[in-house]
Order: sequence, then C-alpha cells, then structure tokens
Amino acid sequence: MRSSITLRSNKSGHDPPFAKKIMNTIAESYVKLVLKTGLHDSDVVDAYYGPEIWKPAKDKSVCPLDHLHQEADDLLQKIDRLPANARASPDELRRIALRAQLVAVRTKIEMLQGKSFPFDEESRLLYDAVAPMHTREYFEAMLDDLGTLLPGPGKVSQRVEQFKRAFVIPKEKLEAVFSAAIKEGRRRTLEHIELPENENFVVEYVTEKAWSGYNWYKGNSFSTIQMNTDFPIYVDRAIDLACHEGYPGHHVYNSLMEKHLVRKRGWMEFSVYPLFSPQSLIAEGSANFGIEVAFPGNERVQFEQEALFPIAGFDPSRAEHYYSIHVLTLKLSYAGNEAARRYLNGTINKDEAVHWLVTYALFTPERAEQRVRFFDKYRSYVINYNLGQDMVKAYVERRGGASENSEQRWKIFKELLSNPITPSALI
Ligand SMILES: [Zn+2]
Repeated sequence: MRSSITLRSNKSGHDPPFAKKIMNTIAESYVKLVLKTGLHDSDVVDAYYGPEIWKPAKDKSVCPLDHLHQEADDLLQKIDRLPANARASPDELRRIALRAQLVAVRTKIEMLQGKSFPFDEESRLLYDAVAPMHTREYFEAMLDDLGTLLPGPGKVSQRVEQFKRAFVIPKEKLEAVFSAAIKEGRRRTLEHIELPENENFVVEYVTEKAWSGYNWYKGNSFSTIQMNTDFPIYVDRAIDLACHEGYPGHHVYNSLMEKHLVRKRGWMEFSVYPLFSPQSLIAEGSANFGIEVAFPGNERVQFEQEALFPIAGFDPSRAEHYYSIHVLTLKLSYAGNEAARRYLNGTINKDEAVHWLVTYALFTPERAEQRVRFFDKYRSYVINYNLGQDMVKAYVERRGGASENSEQRWKIFKELLSNPITPSALI
C-alpha cells in the first residue's frame, strides 16, 4: 500500500515569514530533484510518500543528468544565501540538514555522470562522515581475543563458523522466532515511544539480493520488511530484524519523521528518502544502536534464553557463550569497511577483498562474495552501519543516555529520530 499526503494549508491565515517560504520552495524543488535523479538509478529513492503530482514523468530523457546537476547547484546557492537562524533552533537544524542532503544528491548525480571519488571523500560527501582506518594488526588482536573464547585447532574464522553452525534457525521455525522477537521489540519500544495507532509492517521472505534485510517504508506508518533467505539465518538475526528493521529501528524512525517533520511541521523534504544521503547514516546507525536501546545490558541474553532459544530449539544455557562471541564478531565489522575502502580505491581486487572479509570479518566465502556485490552496488554505504552505530551511541551517551539510565537513553534516542540531525552534528 502506497499512500501520499496532501500539502498542509496555512490554517492561521498568516503567511510564513519570507525565509521560511524560500525554505519550503527549496524543499519542494529538492524532493522533485531526488525523484528525477531516481529515474537514472532505481536505488536512489528509498521511500516517497509526498504528493503524487510531484512525481516526474517516467521518461528520464526529459531530465538529463547535466540539467539535474545544474538544479542541485542552483538549490545549494539558494540555501547558502538564506540567513542563518538561531543556533540549534528547529529552523537552523532544518537548513543544515537540507544543505547536507543537497550536497549528497549533487554528488550522486556526479557519480551517475561517471565521476568517481576516493572512498573517504565519497562517504564525506554522501553521508557526512568518514570511517576511521584500521590496520591488519588491529583486527589480528581481536581475532586473538576470539580465539581464546573458542579454543581448538584451525583458524579462528573456521572455529567461529563451526561454532555458529549449531545456531542456524530451522526454516520451519523462522516465522515463530521472528514473530516472538518482533512482538517483544514492539512492546519495549511502545513503553517509551508513542507511535501512530495504525502503524504496522509485513515481513516477506525473498532471495537473490545483495542485502540480508530491507525495510521499504510506504508512508502512513506502514513498512514492508524483506528478509533474504539465501544464506543460513543465525539466531541473532531475529532480534536484529525485530529491532533494526522494525522497533525501534527503521520502521519507527520513518514513522516518527513522517509524524513530526512532514505532518506536524510541513517539512516536505522528509517525504522523500534518498538512500545515498546523510539520512542513511542516522537511519542505519540508530537502527543498529536501537538493539541495545531496546535490550540494554544483559536483557538481550535473558530474552534469548527465556524466549527465542526455546522456540528455535536451541539449548538456552548456550546463549551467554553465543552472545559473548557475537559481540566480538560485531567489532570486527570494521574490517568490512577496510575491505570496501581498499577494494573501491583499487588497492585490492575482488578476490583479495573476499579473502580479507573471510580472514578478518569472519565471513564464509559465499557470504564474502555477496558482500563484495554489496560493495559494487552500494559502495561507501557500508560505513553507515558500524560507524553510524558508534556515532549515535556516543551522541546518546554524551547526553546522559548510558545503558543504566534507560529513561534518558530512550528520550535522547527518540529526539534524534524526530529531528533533522546531521551526522556531523552527532560529534
Ligand atoms: Zn538498515
């Protein structure tokens, strides 16, 4: 179900101040620019639920890339001519956010025109962030830590794979395990965040995708979540799906943006979500961090022991060991950024990237091949997951939202999901 919304009327009878009017005009042009750019690459528009009439004709020849580039330049010049608002005021956050989104759209247009950027420059322009660099030695030290948790012969990567094999959710139990995880993620989220009454999503199982899960936001607080079943699904994916794609992750983020920014404030730029933009760092980072917001401290392991392991048919006494290993493997995700950076910068080839992922990020060879396909398609987008998570976590914790202060953690987290905050403002 796709829905669209109509433009807000000015009920007060007063015209908005001049600068706000210009912002609204720039916002409308930005939405149309993103939609037109989407005609050149179907991955660009992740979600759109604004007015139908703003959609371009389906023929991309009427909006060639050089015209779109010029439009992006013009909009940036317009926004730069606007006077700055009071620091940290909603209007100023809006102006800064829209500017960063415009830089990203212009960059994506340039990439579609054939321009390529070094990995870090690309991520700075598209996502307003640059991932830290790590050496082989950094990951080797982590592998040593993992090795002590899983002693035995063979490489650590093989030992981890062997260990995890016992925790693949049987196909016939997938739905029951996922439903239980979603129900609990939703229950925990609703204790702290008020969502529109009609909010809902459906889960679909798909194959042959470059990703493992995807949330397609349709507007009106409705999402379609797709799970890729090409590869074995380990037990940790249940909470991952429930929280990252659902509660309090993407589904909640999109619902709150629609409720607070589009419907309440009439900031139409948020009715479109361009995938290759700073919004994605906030989206992926908050979705990943949302797991520990919903399940702080030991609560995840407890829930896995009491609910999910029994449904999946696993021995609950093994949950603690499983998650001590899982936490370490997540830290190794930065090895994925290194593989992407080196591969996309042309320092290593595809086989070397696969080898790097198998050795340091503990991917199976098949999963590593899939990940390199993800690099080809989504490029520096990879940093949004782990760097995004660390940036969102640091931002929330600096404001008093440490895990032992649950109320404050949820409050800051909800504010982040309801306001236009750019990645560089998280630092
Ligand atoms: Zn995601």
